Amino acid sequence: MNYRDIIERIHAAERAAGRAEGTVRLVAVSKQQPEERVRAVLAAGHRLFGENRVQEAATRWTPLREEYPDVELHLVGPLQTNKARQAVALFSAIHSLDRPKLARKLAALAQERGTSPAVFIQVNTGKEPQKAGVAPEEADAFIAEVRALDLPLAGLMCIPPVEEEPALHFALLRKIAERNGLEGLSMGMSRDFETAIRFGATHVRIGSALFGPRGSQEGAAQTPR
Ligand SMILES: *Cc1c(COP(=O)(O)O)cnc(C)c1O
Repeated sequence: MNYRDIIERIHAAERAAGRAEGTVRLVAVSKQQPEERVRAVLAAGHRLFGENRVQEAATRWTPLREEYPDVELHLVGPLQTNKARQAVALFSAIHSLDRPKLARKLAALAQERGTSPAVFIQVNTGKEPQKAGVAPEEADAFIAEVRALDLPLAGLMCIPPVEEEPALHFALLRKIAERNGLEGLSMGMSRDFETAIRFGATHVRIGSALFGPRGSQEGAAQTPR
């Protein structure tokens, strides 16, 4: 568990970018991590966590939230429309809005509930066929569509292709956000969060650098169902 170390690296990156310390939010991505590691980060005082699956998040966090009622959860992974109802009850932000059908579903749920998680539109900056997200050239139109639905649009999210220089992707995401007047930039993971902060990230999503590699300590990683 490297919580202090990661916080210090985030602060250093903020200072290097001429940004105020503590302005970048750390989304601690706890997917597939053993509970004792998650508890260690909770004990260190951190309260914002990211998960990529709705069911895994519900199983883990429903009991933990009884102990830590001020925990805030963000969904960072893809969302199926038929899981949207459960997702809006669990998460205060969804980083993976990527299609009109899901936007309409979230808008209908917002109407019904009188409240909605903040949403980030995922942009497939590398145009990778296996990756979710709208194509960069479709982003402006989709942003307008989401705004017309009255969803609380916080910003944009991307996951750069593994083999490419992430800075190019972060710069592209920021450019799309700027021309659309969007503040939020969910970008930067374990291997590239300092670069992302340099390019204006407001939310960094960090898993393995914080908790350790996923899937180690197999037995402990499995939450009983
Ligand atoms: C798993 C995941 C992360 C965290 O990845 P690390 O490389 O472990 O920091 C961030 N964002 C998304 C969307 C993820 O699925």
